[in-house]
Amino acid sequence: MTQRFGNFIGGEYRDPASGEYLASTNPATLETLYEVASSDERDVDAAVRAAKAAFESPEWRRTTATQRGHLLRRLGDLIGEHADELAEYESLDNGKLLREMRGQLRGLPEYLYYYGGLADKIQGSTIPAASTDIFNYTLREPLGVVGAITPWNSPLTLTTSKLSPALAAGNTLVIKPSEYTSRAILRFAELALEAGFPAGVVNVVTGTGVGAGSPLVDHPDIAKISFTGSTGTGAAIASKTASRFVTTTLELGGKSPQIVFDDANIENAATGIVAGVFAAAGQTCIAGSRVFAHKSVYDELLERVTQRASTIKLGDPLDDATELGPIAFEGQYDKVREYIAIGEREGANLHYGGRRPDVDLPGYFLQPTIFTDTTANMRIVREEIFGPVTAITPFEHEDEVLAAANDTNYGLAAGVWTRDLNRMVRLSRGIDAGTIWFNMYRMMSPQSPRQGFKDSGVGTEHGIESMYDYTRLKSVWINTDDSPAADPFVLRTK
Ligand code: NAD
Repeated sequence: MTQRFGNFIGGEYRDPASGEYLASTNPATLETLYEVASSDERDVDAAVRAAKAAFESPEWRRTTATQRGHLLRRLGDLIGEHADELAEYESLDNGKLLREMRGQLRGLPEYLYYYGGLADKIQGSTIPAASTDIFNYTLREPLGVVGAITPWNSPLTLTTSKLSPALAAGNTLVIKPSEYTSRAILRFAELALEAGFPAGVVNVVTGTGVGAGSPLVDHPDIAKISFTGSTGTGAAIASKTASRFVTTTLELGGKSPQIVFDDANIENAATGIVAGVFAAAGQTCIAGSRVFAHKSVYDELLERVTQRASTIKLGDPLDDATELGPIAFEGQYDKVREYIAIGEREGANLHYGGRRPDVDLPGYFLQPTIFTDTTANMRIVREEIFGPVTAITPFEHEDEVLAAANDTNYGLAAGVWTRDLNRMVRLSRGIDAGTIWFNMYRMMSPQSPRQGFKDSGVGTEHGIESMYDYTRLKSVWINTDDSPAADPFVLRTK
């Protein structure tokens, strides 16, 4: 019988009010893995109430910042101890390579350790007052209940990026994972309880965006929404939270450029381009899906990338020899194939791939795909495909490629392959993206802040900066002088 999970609310599993469940499917084998609650506003309300009660409880209020740090470190240890189990849940759910997930899980506790360490280093300050009779200082306070809404492509990492600073700062959480990838997040919440976080501090409501995500955004007791997902959904959420003045962090889509200059190490650049857009079947927000190569190295680069793409081993993501797993679910598979058809209709040259490969499994497999002869206005160049599809274009001058790289509504990331240090300094200023890698791609750490520019988002994840985004600042004024005010009707500036 298929395993069923309710919502994780107040430290226990609760059946959804509707009694309805959603099935999760293994995208490689098309087998049903388990079922999760198909939640609606009643379940969301129960979860927010539990999180609010936990936030206001003496137990959480009296937990010191140092103790929150200890709890986060304990959770980090538990994540490490359950790394294989969590890696397998995510790999089964979204088709990511198990060996990549094992690598990610080795790094995941570091987020909890980093924010655990920061928990008691977040502090207010004393303000130099205009009068010696006034004592003015600031308090950095948690916001309250945070609604965290995450996508299916990297559920564990993206949830940890939100949960760690939110808890370090003393908030409580309601997490709404993607309807395609809930299992690992439910287990994560169980481990938070086991680590010692009081019941209700971490809650999970599963279900669709309309059924569960939207009521979470609309809930009057939510103090902040931290969302990672598509630009369209982010815009819909922001339009609702803005009118209610609810703090909102948005990590959205991308269409990132990778630029290869004639002085680059072409072998490394080719490997970086293959990994940048074909790893995780291109289902990463930072996918380097627009490649620009200097005309003197264009042929060599195209040949190397094509050669490597043609030898990529597709198959079961649980198999250690596999390099490319399936697309995560049917709707996404259809969307990516539709974009390939659009590219062909628009007149781009389908240089390699674009078809279902010869894989002995029924799932959503797609060859790594390379287009050439594209133009800047084609939809496959402008829109996020979120699949293993790239376009490789020649350029001649630095100014020309800088303009082309920035000719996008997105501004998430960019990669540049060159050995010229002056050029690196120029382009690090010139490229309009929140993360720029030189001679590398697809690296991140809890210490390094990430922002999406333009349509790629608002606010910061990771780093100390992200921690501040989960706090509010209160200014406290104390008059130590008992003598009567000179003129009570005049604003006192001293
Ligand atoms: P999505 O926007 O469809 O869904 C994301 C989450 O929002 C899911 O949990 C979904 O159920 C929920 N949701 C959907 N509609 C909602 C609504 N109206 N109100 C509230 N919640 C709603 O995105 P996706 O397809 O799951 O993820 C892929 C997208 O995520 C891509 O665009 C990718 O670039 C982006 N992404 C960005 C980053 C980043 O760091 N910038 C990282 C990973 C993924």
